[in-house]
Amino acid sequence: MVIHRFILIITLLFTLSIYTLFGYYFFKQEEAMASVVLKTLNSNLSETSYQLSKNMSTKEDIVVSRPILDRIAASQSYISAIVVLDAAKVVLSTDPHYGVQSVYANNLSFESDYKTLTEKKFLEQEIRFYVGNHLETLTLVYVLDHHEIQTHFIQNQKDFLTYFGLLPIFLLFVMFMLLRRFISVPLERLRQFAYYQSAIPSAFKVRELESIRYSMVQTFARLEAEKNELYLIARTDALSGLANRNSLEEYLEKLISASERANKEFAFLFLDVDHFKSVNDSLGHNVGDELLQNVAGVIQKVVRPNDIVARIGGDEFVIVLQDYSSYLELSNIIERIQKQLTRPWLIQNNPIHISSSIGIALYPNDGKDLVTLMKHSDIAMYQAKKQGRAQYQFFTQELNQSIQYTIMLDKEMKWALEHDEYELYYQPKIDLKSGKIVGVEALIRWNSAERGMITPDKFIPLAEENGFIIKLGEWIIDEALNQHLRWKEKGIDIVISINISTKQLLYSDFVNTLIEKFETKHIDPASIDIEITEYMFIDANKESHAILKAISDYGITISLDDFGTGYSSLSYLKKFPIDYLKIDKTFLDDYDTEDGATFIETIVKMGQILKIKVVAEGVEQEAQVDFLKEIGCDQYQGYCFSKPLQAAAFERIHFSSVV
Ligand code: C2E
Ligand code: CA
Ligand code: CA
Repeated sequence: MVIHRFILIITLLFTLSIYTLFGYYFFKQEEAMASVVLKTLNSNLSETSYQLSKNMSTKEDIVVSRPILDRIAASQSYISAIVVLDAAKVVLSTDPHYGVQSVYANNLSFESDYKTLTEKKFLEQEIRFYVGNHLETLTLVYVLDHHEIQTHFIQNQKDFLTYFGLLPIFLLFVMFMLLRRFISVPLERLRQFAYYQSAIPSAFKVRELESIRYSMVQTFARLEAEKNELYLIARTDALSGLANRNSLEEYLEKLISASERANKEFAFLFLDVDHFKSVNDSLGHNVGDELLQNVAGVIQKVVRPNDIVARIGGDEFVIVLQDYSSYLELSNIIERIQKQLTRPWLIQNNPIHISSSIGIALYPNDGKDLVTLMKHSDIAMYQAKKQGRAQYQFFTQELNQSIQYTIMLDKEMKWALEHDEYELYYQPKIDLKSGKIVGVEALIRWNSAERGMITPDKFIPLAEENGFIIKLGEWIIDEALNQHLRWKEKGIDIVISINISTKQLLYSDFVNTLIEKFETKHIDPASIDIEITEYMFIDANKESHAILKAISDYGITISLDDFGTGYSSLSYLKKFPIDYLKIDKTFLDDYDTEDGATFIETIVKMGQILKIKVVAEGVEQEAQVDFLKEIGCDQYQGYCFSKPLQAAAFERIHFSSVV
């Protein structure tokens, strides 16, 4: 039974018994009082009849006693009148209202004094006296005043109800509330706490309950701490404090389902310390253990907080890396880990030098579960060991090669700038109406001493990623401007278009630096055009608008490159100061299909309406040239006329075309 209900029932039972007790007492008391009143009245009656009989010698003498009876009737509150009867005849009455009939009706006897007093109408007594030797009798009758008697007893009942009826109810209610507050509510809280251990109940007033509560709180706290400790022991590697295999499994399960949902990749690295066994064998396990602890610390410092590092065997670690934006960034992190580990260690006064081999498997391409990722990264790690240790290998061979190549380019492209390996080539732009060269587009080439000519699609995206485009871009501008000056001297006065990457354009102070170059070199801005791509508008904001406007205001024209391949809306064509639209080669390739032709025509028409000149790119066939002429396109560019050329080669075709 619930304690609350128990207390309620106890209180009710208690109330009930108190009421029975008081009820019994009350009725007893009422009866006792009634009998006292009755006795008093009866003895008064006997006393009066005796007094009257003493003074009587004839029946007529009764009249003399009237004042006495009047006084008694007036002084006794329970008597409404006194009547004297001779047989059935009223001989005297203190209240003339009472006749003989009314006097003898309903004058029965009753079982209790209370009933007699409240329901019997009269009390009677004979007045006996002798006239000579003859006994005469009259009847003395007290008419009871029921109204008065009732009033008295009802008042009594009311008082009883007030003191003994309502008061207990109030007291019991108070008792119930106190029991509830101090016993039943605390007990319920304790029960809740014992079940769910959620909120710790605050201290109780009743000492016994309080000590139970206190010991429960202590016990639960201890259990919780022990549970946490066990959990931690089960999940951490005792030596390094890193996650162990169990926890790695758990973590990976979560990561795999999250990555699957988000369609994301992550890298699973298997790291093995090179020649760890020889450290252990020659310097002892203590040194080996301390070295491993240091390795763990270093790895954790290099990776980000949400990457996981686990030790899964003697000198084997697993590192899971997420949120890298490119393989170059991933390689950089891996290289940082390896570099940090090769620093000279001093452990227990032993100088130690170590390196590490890392194998990398990528989720989901190289494995979709822990077992496969582990196996493949392990294979890649052995590959790294085989190739001479202290390096890293991706599981996929193609990835290995392309990443190695990217990393090589990343390093060498910077070196190449210092060693003059870059060169600008120039591809003529032809006016379709006149057939004359009206400009050139500067296109960069990398003449690598080691790898031969490298085209820009191999290194420009990488330069944009690693930020080198800022420096390289500046070199391109300088070189193009210088070429303009050299050609001007030789009498070649044509517009040079320079490709500017978005990153470079948005780089701080681009416009001022550009203008400054024009000023110092005394170059007419109208002789230079810049080519930008739609990426500039992808998150078009005030800043990009201001940059382009400043360039345009200065007098440099702007071409929108690779038009049609981006995702931005056409509205920017009106908003931004664009002078040329360059239709991408992919659309020109389709010029002989209906859709392709319509697309090109539409752009040309749109250009005419918006007063933007249209340049066709990648024109390889004469037929394309004819088509473009027909639809009224302004300029074209392509192998059909000329591939991008070195400056000297361009000069030759320029002069031959002029002649
Ligand atoms: P882009 O600006 O769209 O340049 C046009 C590309 O198409 C050039 O490739 C050019 O050689 C090629 N091309 C021109 N006519 C034809 C043709 O008839 N047929 C074929 N198949 N191709 C043709 P390139 O020089 O390899 O440049 C590739 C991309 O690299 C450029 O595309 C541009 O986005 C970037 N790039 C080149 N030079 C620079 C530079 O100096 N700065 C910057 N930021 N990017 C550059
Ligand atoms: Ca271009
Ligand atoms: Ca283009």
